[in-house]
Amino acid sequence: MVHIPDYRLARERMVKNQLIPRGIKNHRVLDAMGKVPRDRFVEEALVNEAYNDHPLPIGHNQTISQPYIVALMTEALKLTGKEMTLEIGTGSGYQTAILAELSKRVCTIERVRPLMVKARTVLAELGYNNILFKAFDGTLGWKEYEPYDAIIITAGAPKIPQPLLDQLADGGRLIVPVGNRFRQELIKATRKKGNIIQKNLGGCRFVDLVGVHGWKD
Ligand code: SAH
Repeated sequence: MVHIPDYRLARERMVKNQLIPRGIKNHRVLDAMGKVPRDRFVEEALVNEAYNDHPLPIGHNQTISQPYIVALMTEALKLTGKEMTLEIGTGSGYQTAILAELSKRVCTIERVRPLMVKARTVLAELGYNNILFKAFDGTLGWKEYEPYDAIIITAGAPKIPQPLLDQLADGGRLIVPVGNRFRQELIKATRKKGNIIQKNLGGCRFVDLVGVHGWKD
């Protein structure tokens, strides 16, 4: 008999051991992390590591982020289910699925086309129908659907890309790792009546955001 593993228990353990003890409190975020099958977003050879407490390679020199970082960034966006959300750096599509669970609609941009195509396939198989995909330089944003209530950049930037700040709605939240190529601080920027208020959520390490308003290739 072929044994098809069910990772429900692994997901529950991930929430209980990695997220709650580090301070993730939002129940909608915890529920989404307990629901989305992270095992579907990693390479077959790494499937047994899918719920481990670290990032994993996804090809093209890119990584799927550590579960805790996904939860931390998502919680900071304060999603209620009504948002138009923009994601820069689709990668595996795992963070995209979490955003799609918690927003009205997600626009996601990935510069490496084969990653976008693979993520789009997996997310369609899982039944998500509120996600729009684009293979492009996300530092330029996505004009057609602005303004966004929430913007998340899942790659490290030298500074916050100005087009993304420009496409943020009043009251909107933007999360981005900002720093050098080896170490960044997770910055939350909130637009309030034309002013941008910034808060530092702590240190992190991401792959490069490459583009016109990011690092040069
Ligand atoms: N959230 C993803 C993280 C992937 S790593 C996940 O958990 O799977 C970051 C991704 O950002 C990479 O796939 C990289 O190709 C992409 N990226 C880097 N610069 C970009 C840019 N300017 N526009 C869009 N995507 C970019």
